[in-house]
Amino acid sequence: MPEPTTDFTSLTLDYLPDDIAVVRVAVPGHSQNVITATFLRELGQILDHFAAVPPRGLILESGRPGSFFAGADIDRLNRLWELPEPEVADLCDRGRTLFGRLSASPWPSVAVIDGTCLGGGLELALACDLRVATDDPRTSLGAPEVKLGLLPGWGGTVRLPRLIGPGPALEMLITGDAVSGRRAATLGLVDACVPSVAARAAALRLLEQTVANANHTTRRQQQAEAVPLDADEKAFLEATTAALILGRTGGHYPAPLAILKTVLQGCELEAAEAAVGEREAFVQLTRSPVARQLVRVFLLGEQNRRDSGLSGDNQNNLSAPDPSAPDRSDSSKRDCRPAVVGAGIMGAGIVARHLRSALTTTLVDINAAALSRSIPDILAEAAWDRNARASDPQRAVELAGLLRSSTDLAAIAQADLVIESVIERTDLKRQVLSEIESMVAETTVLCTNTSTNPIATLAESLSNASRFCGMHFFNPVRRMKLVEVIRGPATSDATVATVVAHAKRLGKYPVVVQDSPGFLVNRVLTPYLHEAVELLREGIAPDRIDRLSRRFGMPLGPLELYDMVGLDTAFYAGLVMATAFGERIDASPVIPALVKAGWLGRKSGSGFYAYSGSGHDAPITGVNRQLADRLEPYRLPERSLRDEDIIDRLFLPMLLEALLVLDEGIVRESNDVDLAVIHALGFPAFRGGLLAWGDSLGAAQVIERLKRFADLGPRMTPPPSLLDHAATGRPFTTHFLS
Ligand code: NAD
Repeated sequence: MPEPTTDFTSLTLDYLPDDIAVVRVAVPGHSQNVITATFLRELGQILDHFAAVPPRGLILESGRPGSFFAGADIDRLNRLWELPEPEVADLCDRGRTLFGRLSASPWPSVAVIDGTCLGGGLELALACDLRVATDDPRTSLGAPEVKLGLLPGWGGTVRLPRLIGPGPALEMLITGDAVSGRRAATLGLVDACVPSVAARAAALRLLEQTVANANHTTRRQQQAEAVPLDADEKAFLEATTAALILGRTGGHYPAPLAILKTVLQGCELEAAEAAVGEREAFVQLTRSPVARQLVRVFLLGEQNRRDSGLSGDNQNNLSAPDPSAPDRSDSSKRDCRPAVVGAGIMGAGIVARHLRSALTTTLVDINAAALSRSIPDILAEAAWDRNARASDPQRAVELAGLLRSSTDLAAIAQADLVIESVIERTDLKRQVLSEIESMVAETTVLCTNTSTNPIATLAESLSNASRFCGMHFFNPVRRMKLVEVIRGPATSDATVATVVAHAKRLGKYPVVVQDSPGFLVNRVLTPYLHEAVELLREGIAPDRIDRLSRRFGMPLGPLELYDMVGLDTAFYAGLVMATAFGERIDASPVIPALVKAGWLGRKSGSGFYAYSGSGHDAPITGVNRQLADRLEPYRLPERSLRDEDIIDRLFLPMLLEALLVLDEGIVRESNDVDLAVIHALGFPAFRGGLLAWGDSLGAAQVIERLKRFADLGPRMTPPPSLLDHAATGRPFTTHFLS
């Protein structure tokens, strides 16, 4: 066959015997294939070539192992907000028209999906007549646009329901969750699921059958028509899906509802008309601040993925080998042997996370009963199957092979990274750390999961503190993706880099913070918790405080959070903060009074709320009826506050504390604050994080709102940096736009 005259950079074209064209995609400059302007242009050129010289059929495959297409180029997405509506609409039209040319060509096409196939990549695969997926664990097909506050804008909402039915399509589009190759075959999303080595042959076979029977024309006809869906079926789907969406999102995220409406309306229309609705919905979503914030949050994660944990100069120092400090920064190339000491709630969660990352892990606990109690929970959590929403027993058995457990500390002798997670008592931690140090090699990195102890204090128990730092996980470990990596005064750069790389291996976002009371997360959390109790003392009902916090977008209200964490634990953490920052965060007398009464929160069956039973899963029955009496001695003058005042009282002190954290250089850059509050506290992603929320108000407006609470003293006083932001108009966040 004549070759096209153009030189392609992201595609190659070959021919198999019998005139079957094979287009392989390898987009340069990216670790995974992403849809760039160059790729789209070259796809158009190759379709021009096929128009002049038609093949019998086309196989579209990736030249990059493990990646069919990871989706759109995120930098392109991050510019959508700047474009006027007609230009966004034009982008949709051009992409859809291009993919439409593929599906309207006289010859049939098949996509070979071996690896990630997401977003625009899935839409491209849907534009082919046939799809073959592989059973490789990396193969996943999904439409994650909803997670960025958008919907598929190149025909995905039109093609997917026609291929697999509106119900399954809505589930994929609204959750944004990807499915495996096997699951895709069950759904009818792909025509076959085979091992990678057999994928090309399977694609060729399917293509030959299709050429012989011309049955792609029948499929195309079906794709062009409306979807048969009777009125009752539609009403049921609409009502149940809308209820599910509102339950999950609290109405804060417009994209899922827009997807529901677009898909159901689109089903009643012919595909060409449905595409117009999709385009309009896409354009409207790009006008919403939510999409902009969600894309920013995604970029925060990407930035973190690339961050070594060291600042510029220190990174360079690391590359010059220091004979006294072994370079372990590239732990991914090493056979890592981690160990965890302490099999409590946190230690168990940390070990489960290690097993999920396929790391052989040693767990030591002094208490044999605690150790054996933890193991079934660890394996069940490690073997959790998200698709099935249950633990996979077969997987649990496999993962058990990676877990070594012992009551003898000598079991950690071979470890190259040890995480101490015993109970929060300074003397005990110092003793355990010293024992750990005596047990392991000189090169082993030592970490502590302490929440409140200064790293400097714990480091005093070690003879070589340069290999020691904090590695602070959040509860529950399976859900909270943040890890604070806390630098002590003696911690070496090599240690920080090793622990950062290790956290990433566990699928976490590591944020490097300086050793300071509360580190980053608990420091900004404390003013919020403290303010909730002050509001209570001023006569605001506990359930109103929590409801407003949840309405703001927090997963739990502050008093619910107190009860979950445990009031005894919160009391101790609050004391540490009050000692350090008493002027702003004084120790509330309420928490010790409740602890004294035996109200420790959910685990004891009563706290701010009452529970039926005790323990972590005890169901809530309502506000604790005796709370008002207990509060009586600590009442403050009553205030009548509007809902928006209460929200400001809770969140503005958090923002002020974050600005102080930045002024003190506790974190290396402002983006770390937003990443941390989202992934450790569940701060609403649709607001983009704490600083992004501050930017949505503007520094001048923040100062204005604080004036209403000036009588509350230093905790509501604008710090100098806030005044500076207001004077210069400089935002709190750093922008990503290049
Ligand atoms: P926990 O009380 O549930 O478990 C502590 C475990 O340590 C127990 O199983 C105990 O038997 C074991 N232990 C005690 N002494 C030991 C020793 N000498 N050697 C080996 N094991 C020993 O505690 P947790 O809630 O899992 O907390 C552990 C650490 O994690 C603490 O430092 C805590 O501050 C920190 N942390 C806790 C949370 C949380 O929400 N629970 C969150 C972040 C960090």
